[in-house]
Amino acid sequence: MNRRDLLKAAPVMALPACTAPPGSGPPRLEFKSRQLRLKHTWTTVMSSSTTRDTFHVEYTRDGVTGRGEGAPIVRYGESAAQAIERLERERAWLEAADPWRFAKLMGEVFEKIEANFAAKAALDIALLDWVGQRLGVPLYRYFGLDPADAPVTTFSIGIDTAEVIRKKVEEAAEYPVLKIKVGLDNDEEIIGAVRSVTDKPLRVDANEGFKTKEEAVEKILWLEKQGIEFMEQPMPAANLEDMNWIRQRVNVPIIADESCLHPEDIPRLAPHFDGVNIKIDKCGGLLEGWRMIQMARALGLKTMLGCMISSSCAITAAAHLSPLVDYADLDGHLLISNDPFEGVKVVNGKLVLPIAPGLGLRVREA
Ligand code: MG
Repeated sequence: MNRRDLLKAAPVMALPACTAPPGSGPPRLEFKSRQLRLKHTWTTVMSSSTTRDTFHVEYTRDGVTGRGEGAPIVRYGESAAQAIERLERERAWLEAADPWRFAKLMGEVFEKIEANFAAKAALDIALLDWVGQRLGVPLYRYFGLDPADAPVTTFSIGIDTAEVIRKKVEEAAEYPVLKIKVGLDNDEEIIGAVRSVTDKPLRVDANEGFKTKEEAVEKILWLEKQGIEFMEQPMPAANLEDMNWIRQRVNVPIIADESCLHPEDIPRLAPHFDGVNIKIDKCGGLLEGWRMIQMARALGLKTMLGCMISSSCAITAAAHLSPLVDYADLDGHLLISNDPFEGVKVVNGKLVLPIAPGLGLRVREA
């Protein structure tokens, strides 16, 4: 093999990853908030809204920009404005840090910054997007995963009137599995409205909405007859003691969501739930999400990747880990009308990962 063929065969050798392309300026972080508009008013047991603000990071270095997004969760006292304010205080050392040591860097971020998990998630995703782009590999390949293993995602139907729910279910014709929010007084009406227009499998999420363990069992047994695959978070997050009482009386798996925020929660939850819903916004990034998935699998739990209302940036990031999990609920970008990015696609319900390096995002609007 002559020198030219060798260089063709080994593009990484031809351009060492740490060499800055000519003309690039100093490393630069940008922090901003974006307001995402919802297609439908979004109602769960906790809240009702028509817009959501998410926090975005752009990390530019060596002529390459990595992008990240985190959805601040009001319940945990987070906001996009607070994420900006908190990361601004760390700007100097973050911009000076070596992004190739991203795992060490994020370890330092977790040591220095209390809470603010959406901020950490956006930073972690932006760094990994940058690293993936510089290495020339999509993130699923960086993590050693097969995109063909990406699961079907559910499409979520928020709480609404029976008439609007029927319309939403009809609009969701292309999605083979639906996620329905329950836990209010009108569950029978909501499920009845769904079942009047479709016999698709349903996954249901009570968002801690059942008041007693007896009510939870009664509702879950009724929902089983309506064709549900699993029940998410029937009882309040801190109530672990009732979970086994409930699990002994029902047949479908019970998945923790609000009870499960961080890696250290998983061993504590393992005796009480059948699976966990892992969200990158709750745990603070793909590195933490990876740890949580591995811990849950090691403890014999079913794994699910969920999301908040977000653009294609955060959803695509989570989707790159989705070949590892049993269930995906990664539809936050499908629920908004002003997505600034294109990334993961949903084809017949299945997540189809972009093959471009890093997250593989295409920017629709600067
Ligand atoms: Mg949930």
